[in-house]
Amino acid sequence: MNHPENCDADPFAWLDRSLQSIHKANWYRSTQTINSKAGTIAQIDGREMLNFASNNYLGLAGDRRLIVAAIAATEKYGTGSTGSRLVTGHLDLHEKLETAIADLKNVESALVFSSGYLANLGTIAAIVGQRDLVLGDAYNHSCLKKGALLSGATAIDYRHLDIADLTAQLQQHRHHYRRCLITTDSVFSMDGDLALLREIMDLAAEYECMVLVDEAHGTGVFGDRGGGLTEALGIRQELIQVGTLSKALGSLGGYVAGSAKLIDYLRNRAATWVYTTALSPADTGAAIAAIEIVKSESKLRQQLWQNVAMFRQGLQNLEISAIALDSPIMAIAVGDIPETLKMANYLKENGIFAPAIRPPTVPTPRIRITLMATHEAEQIQFLLNLLGSASRHLF
Ligand SMILES: *Cc1c(COP(=O)(O)O)cnc(C)c1O
Repeated sequence: MNHPENCDADPFAWLDRSLQSIHKANWYRSTQTINSKAGTIAQIDGREMLNFASNNYLGLAGDRRLIVAAIAATEKYGTGSTGSRLVTGHLDLHEKLETAIADLKNVESALVFSSGYLANLGTIAAIVGQRDLVLGDAYNHSCLKKGALLSGATAIDYRHLDIADLTAQLQQHRHHYRRCLITTDSVFSMDGDLALLREIMDLAAEYECMVLVDEAHGTGVFGDRGGGLTEALGIRQELIQVGTLSKALGSLGGYVAGSAKLIDYLRNRAATWVYTTALSPADTGAAIAAIEIVKSESKLRQQLWQNVAMFRQGLQNLEISAIALDSPIMAIAVGDIPETLKMANYLKENGIFAPAIRPPTVPTPRIRITLMATHEAEQIQFLLNLLGSASRHLF
């Protein structure tokens, strides 16, 4: 038998080379360790920082009522759900949560997954295949893009928020395919701008397409009852709403909401639901408590939007521009990657946790600020003051 020259070479040697090129491109990331409860103040490396980076929009991840619900669910059911939903893991608690989600979304039925990422992967891969077309907004979240890849359908991006481009793609490609699915974030996670859902729904009707909207950053934040951008825009047509329990809802897990027959189908065909362990009792219990609060306490949402308005006004006064001002996510473009890192560092030195988000996550570097209902006005003013002094002295 012939052995190649390098038969005893390390098969993992490529990892060093790949990490080096990640460093060279300035793409290297690492984790930051937090050792405090979720809230507006985070203890990072032993230092208290003002947190403008979390997705905990309503402050529910540290809310006593969710903690109590998680403990009660754990006491009653244990720490693990012990199996997949179709075998031993299906609890009455899951049914209760799914009923609550369907009610929040004003649809017939819902299904909870272990994460929002898995909900999107499993749903997209289940509803389209090789003979089908997926048209997605170019800035869609990774899980929508990977879901389309996994499905084996032809996946084409249309330009971000560009209805004319979506129309052109539909005209050019739709008739070559059996089914067509249009996918979009409702609130774009890195830019904070909003999908043109009404226009998308109209096009979908015209070209006989299904629509899947990812309300990860919309749920709990938009709509009178916190149902999401879909609720806020009063969209009544049938569509597939996906989302997460881990952002405004302060827990962990994902969901799909829609017609009873869609959910029935997914229970049979979504591999990321069938072949994985059911959501833990603690996460499920906390999410049920969160949805109850989201529906009944509009005060929290009002506080959040007041904070958004205050920060937006502050930015305008400082003549600092954000990519969009329409959601609690405000992405501030400060320059190239080194300049953005410098700004993030300056904020960090002054006690603000607001990360630089850069390629390959996004096409252009920015500081991503997220506001919470529980931020105090003084905390927001402190951030604005720093942004003002940084843009005067840093560059
Ligand atoms: C965070 C996020 C997800 C993933 O949700 P997880 O529950 O964290 O897996 C999906 N889509 C969008 C748009 C997100 O921002």
